[in-house]
Amino acid sequence: MHEPLTAAEYRAIAANLQLPSNAFVDGSFRPANSGKTFETTNPATGETLAEIAACDASDVDFAVAKAKDAFNDGRWRQLTPGERKATLIKFAKLLEENRHELAVMESLDSGKPIRECQTVDVPDTIHTIRWHAELIDKLYDNTNSVGPNALAMVVREPIGVVACVLPWNFPLLMLAWKIAPALAAGCSVIVKPAQETTLTTLRVAELALEAGIPAGAFNVVTGSGKDVGEPLGLHMDVDMVAFTGSTPTGRRFLRYSADSNLKKVVLECGGKNPAVVLEDAEDLDLVAEQVVNGAFWNMGENCSATSRLIVQSGIKDELLQRIGAYMREWKTGDPLDPENRVGALVNKNHYEKVKSFLDDVKTEKLSIAYGGETYKGIFIEPTVVDGVTPSSRLFKEEIFGPILSVTTFETLAEAVALANDTNYGLTAAVYTGSLRNAIRVSRDIRAGLVTVNCFGEGDASTPFGGYKESGFGGRDKSIFAHDNYCELKTIWIDISDRSVDETVR
Ligand code: NAP
Ligand code: MG
Repeated sequence: MHEPLTAAEYRAIAANLQLPSNAFVDGSFRPANSGKTFETTNPATGETLAEIAACDASDVDFAVAKAKDAFNDGRWRQLTPGERKATLIKFAKLLEENRHELAVMESLDSGKPIRECQTVDVPDTIHTIRWHAELIDKLYDNTNSVGPNALAMVVREPIGVVACVLPWNFPLLMLAWKIAPALAAGCSVIVKPAQETTLTTLRVAELALEAGIPAGAFNVVTGSGKDVGEPLGLHMDVDMVAFTGSTPTGRRFLRYSADSNLKKVVLECGGKNPAVVLEDAEDLDLVAEQVVNGAFWNMGENCSATSRLIVQSGIKDELLQRIGAYMREWKTGDPLDPENRVGALVNKNHYEKVKSFLDDVKTEKLSIAYGGETYKGIFIEPTVVDGVTPSSRLFKEEIFGPILSVTTFETLAEAVALANDTNYGLTAAVYTGSLRNAIRVSRDIRAGLVTVNCFGEGDASTPFGGYKESGFGGRDKSIFAHDNYCELKTIWIDISDRSVDETVR
């Protein structure tokens, strides 16, 4: 279904794309009230792709009012579960029909390699929407055993107006992780995509309307974090914020909530994820392949990226050799060429930030085992840095780029201590041939997801989110994500027989 095309075919699609530029509120595109716009660019070429509406607090007020109207009059929330399910499945079908266009738009706007957009981002987005749609009519509420004189029902109700504030690294997929369970629950959503990557979100909103998701239930307000994110976070009529992005911005949303209406806040934030390789790992080729994929997939601009290789000292040299062999397959270059696995970083500022870690390699006199080259002021080649100690910035800070640090250990206890020596706790991987070690290390690492003998994020049925400063308040994906977008209500009904004397009861 998601067959890749050739570079020439992708370029032809790119040449003919119709790019959206306005915000999408109450079922139609509209410019910002101020008339202001901002540029969205193709990071790989520097070319301006479109001028997007630069909205502000007045546009947020309008969108929130429309989303609230849609919620209150029940045009979406009060459909039967089967009706919402059918509409969301139609929505998934429309996305499927437009998959090549969406993949190219995503690649152009973000610098991501087309092969990933076509084989991961777009199909996973569609699958996420379908998965949550399928769940809608399979969720049950509770009646409780409270004795003969009362009936207690515990029911989930959609929480209301949900603001989804998104990052630029997986624009479509993070959108789907939020809107699929939110719309499934019956909420109205207002999406604020990252300024770098607004295009696909706008196109998806248009397709949602075409699928039958009513006007006002799915809105997109484009603009900066300061001008759109903050007013959403502080709005008295926004009932919840679902956020993915950096930990510092996540903290801001907790403050916005405290300073406004105590809206619910669910945060998915950064990571500094270890891959722990024990010397009893069965297949070092497999470990090398998985570590390379974990570290360099999506240019390392991935909250779950393998950022720290923590390897038992006796096998380090052999593992690094095999890692080097796999890295030869990871070509860096034109994102629209399916041969390339590493595209451009998302923008110049981010490139400079990632490059500063390469500068540390020199000042700290660390050794580059592989890579280290930069091109055209926006591409950074996959890089492996050896001999990194826990005091180094490379070990501590989220890099969000294609740089893997290597640190060695002698004992299992030391490995776990190194893995946990971070304020983050999003994902981790452990590679071992021993079931005992796999379970012990998986239990001892404080992270929301631990993979054994592989790198990955599970599937739609498994929750995703972090311990410590990697997350707050809930999980994306899985049946548990639905709880984020619902309030729990208790309905207690007295059914005592009033004709019977009180003393008899
Ligand atoms: P970011 O700078 O925190 O931005 C995330 C979103 O918040 C953007 O839409 C941004 O808007 C908005 N924002 C920025 N400042 C704001 C403010 N003062 N008030 C309200 N909203 C504000 O993060 P990013 O650089 O886009 O994304 C990278 C980060 O996301 C990394 O730390 C990564 O680990 C994390 N991430 C986490 C997950 C996960 O599931 N845990 C997944 C992907 C990424 P503008 O940028 O448009 O101004
Ligand atoms: Mg862009």
